[in-house]
Amino acid sequence: MAVAEQTTSAFLDWMERWIARLPVASLQEDVIGPAGGPERVALMSVDLLVGFCSEGPLSSPRVGAIVPRIVELFSRAHAAGVRQFLLTQDSHPADAPEFREFGPHCVTGTREAETVPELLALPFARDFTLIRKRSLSSAESTELSSWLDARPDLRRIVVVGDCTDLCVYQAAMHLRLRANAAGDSAIEIFVPADCVDTYDLPVASAERLGAMPHDGELLHRLSLYHMALNGVRVVRSLR
Ligand SMILES: [Zn+2]
Repeated sequence: MAVAEQTTSAFLDWMERWIARLPVASLQEDVIGPAGGPERVALMSVDLLVGFCSEGPLSSPRVGAIVPRIVELFSRAHAAGVRQFLLTQDSHPADAPEFREFGPHCVTGTREAETVPELLALPFARDFTLIRKRSLSSAESTELSSWLDARPDLRRIVVVGDCTDLCVYQAAMHLRLRANAAGDSAIEIFVPADCVDTYDLPVASAERLGAMPHDGELLHRLSLYHMALNGVRVVRSLR
């Protein structure tokens, strides 16, 4: 037991150092250049919805704080010539099975299921592609595969949004595993750590609610680690 605790605490120490040393990458030099041009780059925003960022039972200040950074990254990418902006977003029926775990959220047609206004205010928002999803997965029973199939030249996909350990993890892993299964080592998936986050639900609050607690910082870090472990390019930020 003591040995196990020692190894776990050594790992957590290592992970803290790893997070502290995550490199800052350059949008131009590390993403657009190696892709072979901005037309081979896509930005994919996962669940940047009112219901997770600002209003409703699952909204979270941690997640709300990434919105300005994502808006800024979208603007810079557009200025650099990127034109593929994909939004995958929860849009649930009123009786979604997922509500057993997370409670009702982002029901189709409600304000919670709307894209955050900051993203919609971008002058190129009309060019966004919106893919609605009904689970944590951006790929399961959605248009994602056909969207990707129609763009065989894509070489770099930058994934941003929420939550790091839930829908972002699922999306980035899907894209990485899809490329792996296709034998495609030219595709790189980037996750800038400052443009993803997850929510906090402290133990005391969770026990009052009868829900599972959720430590935002620990699960954010573990998920960044897990994506990097599997070949996703996790960076501190994309400048
Ligand atoms: Zn959902």
